[in-house]
Amino acid sequence: MTTPTSWVEGAAGSPYDVDNLPYGVFTRADEDPRVGVRIGDFVLDATPVSAADMLDLHHVFEERSLNPLMAEGPLAWRSLRQWLTGLLTDETERDLVEPHLIPLDEVELLPPVEVADYVDFYASLDHASNVGKMFRPDQEPLLPNWRHLPVGYHGRAGTVVPSGTPIVRPSGQRKAPDATAPTFGPSARLDIEAELGFVVGAPSALGTPVGAASFADHVFGVVGLNDWSARDIQAWEYVPLGPFLGKSFATSISRWVTPLAALDAAWVDLPGQDPAPLPYLAVDGPAGLDISVEVELNGEVVSRPPYSSMYWSPAQMLAHMTVNGASLRTGDLFASGTISGPDKEQRGSLLELSWGGKEPFAVGDDTRTFLEDGDRVVLRYTAPGTLGGRIALGEVAGEVVS
Ligand code: MN
Repeated sequence: MTTPTSWVEGAAGSPYDVDNLPYGVFTRADEDPRVGVRIGDFVLDATPVSAADMLDLHHVFEERSLNPLMAEGPLAWRSLRQWLTGLLTDETERDLVEPHLIPLDEVELLPPVEVADYVDFYASLDHASNVGKMFRPDQEPLLPNWRHLPVGYHGRAGTVVPSGTPIVRPSGQRKAPDATAPTFGPSARLDIEAELGFVVGAPSALGTPVGAASFADHVFGVVGLNDWSARDIQAWEYVPLGPFLGKSFATSISRWVTPLAALDAAWVDLPGQDPAPLPYLAVDGPAGLDISVEVELNGEVVSRPPYSSMYWSPAQMLAHMTVNGASLRTGDLFASGTISGPDKEQRGSLLELSWGGKEPFAVGDDTRTFLEDGDRVVLRYTAPGTLGGRIALGEVAGEVVS
């Protein structure tokens, strides 16, 4: 059975047809914030429609975040998606639904999720190899553990901010390799990391690992994510405990959360893992995602990283993150790490695009090594949809301020 397209004006065949249906939290004028669903260039105000339909789950739409909806678990997610698809494709629902379609430009989108814990991985072979070559030029680019486990660190959940939030250039300790002592001041090597974020809906019990095969039982959806990074602060502080203040000043996420079900047509085989990972990290079937990313700097596309090139899959990240018995909470966010492909124009950070700041790259008629004050970065993501076209994931924008 093919899903019919939407009757909503402009939605059919667009990146926001019924095969997408991302969730967000919105407000209009001085109304209470609540959960909405994007269709075409509208937000469906699901609260009055679900109340009129006497939907059991109508309460999840009256909330200021997606967390109560996400906590309901996969059966509820599926039934809500079926209900929404029916509303937006069946002409007989039009009279009920149409008055509650609000043009996007009339709403303000709010942070979609109350982030619980935040973990950032390092799952791209090309990114890890590039960084290894730059940070440890006299050693093997990949450290011995890299091909055996998805390397990650705990980030700062409290500084995850929604797309559009200005990014204040961080200050901290920096030490040039040839300097004898560190100095304090604003980062001179402010960078981006184009990543994909995974949002946990259904929690798990402390002491019980979540297997890779249970990924879709726990992960609600995906967000675009920019892991802003101060490379000079990072390079001086990261040994031996990993990233800290070079990362924790801000992480931007999209204001729309794309449900996992919208990515049904996007699963692809991983590029290949050698050596085969330990049994708890084994995955069956296509575990990678064919998501195309576009990095735009000051209006110019500077890179197109392919998510399909990622070495470690999100299911393996989840399995690894919980294999010690650590529990999941609703709102946990874990991110892929910088998405970089093998080619130069597929690198997801300026560190790599400028090869450690040594090779300025073109941004339109201008050049850059790292970010300057006033620079604006937008990350855009698309994936194959189940209707044959492409769906758009939430974009992530941010401007650097001094
Ligand atoms: Mn990162």
